Amino acid sequence: MIARQALHEAIQYLKQAGCDNARLDAEVLLMHVWGISATQLFTRALDELPENIDVHFQEVLQNRFHRQPIAYITGRKEFWSRDFEISPDVLIPRPETEHLIEEVLKCYPDQDAAYDFAEIGTGSGCIAITLACEYPHANILATDISEKALNIARKNAVKYDVLKRIHFRQGDLYQAFPNELSPLDMLVSNPPYLSLRDMDDIEQELRYEPRIALTDQQDGLSLMRQILSGACRWLKPHGYCLVETGLGGLPEIHKPLILDHPYYDLAGILRGGLYHHEVL
Ligand code: GLN
Repeated sequence: MIARQALHEAIQYLKQAGCDNARLDAEVLLMHVWGISATQLFTRALDELPENIDVHFQEVLQNRFHRQPIAYITGRKEFWSRDFEISPDVLIPRPETEHLIEEVLKCYPDQDAAYDFAEIGTGSGCIAITLACEYPHANILATDISEKALNIARKNAVKYDVLKRIHFRQGDLYQAFPNELSPLDMLVSNPPYLSLRDMDDIEQELRYEPRIALTDQQDGLSLMRQILSGACRWLKPHGYCLVETGLGGLPEIHKPLILDHPYYDLAGILRGGLYHHEVL
């Protein structure tokens, strides 16, 4: 079949499934299976689609029809203008999490300093690796409860040549922290913040993502509370703790950690909070 015709049929098929961006999805999937760029998709629109590519295209379209996220089909997702390898073992990096990176940069504008950072729940590694790239002298501890997630994160760290400065450790929250860890300038986390109740009516696409990356199976704030209440043990005096949140908001927290400010996205939606270690 001619590529343009295959694309046209694919768009109609995905529209039937209710995909909001049927055209874009079909184009991305065709580029993926054919191994071509967006420009080539245009210049080769009248080429005959090779048989094996067509078969593969139909397969991935079927997956998309069943609402498998595009990022899991292609195995990649862009975050802070870098390309990350992902798999269904990790949460798909979200554009809203880029606000967390912006907050770190606002808090520590000197990108040449040798900061000590840590991230709890690194998943694909998108946050820790972005920080390692943006702060070329920083040292970072990145933890996750999932060894499978850490394997993906390590691959991404190799790709961006930052493996030497990121110490990956498996474990639940602070259990993964080595006792001898240097006091931190900043601890960051995008913890699972959907509540058990939220999980009842999540979009179909979210069902493909690891449940432990999405929800604490409680009120949505329990892991965030544990992260915040344990942070001062690891922070430098005046160090910061930055967490992303969702509709559940930010939990009440006690001194010596205090809320510096909540942060919002461009639509004015609360996206997280920056806390600091107050020293009396
Ligand atoms: N740190 C990763 C991200 O922000 C994973 C977060 C998670 O699994 N909850 O995408």
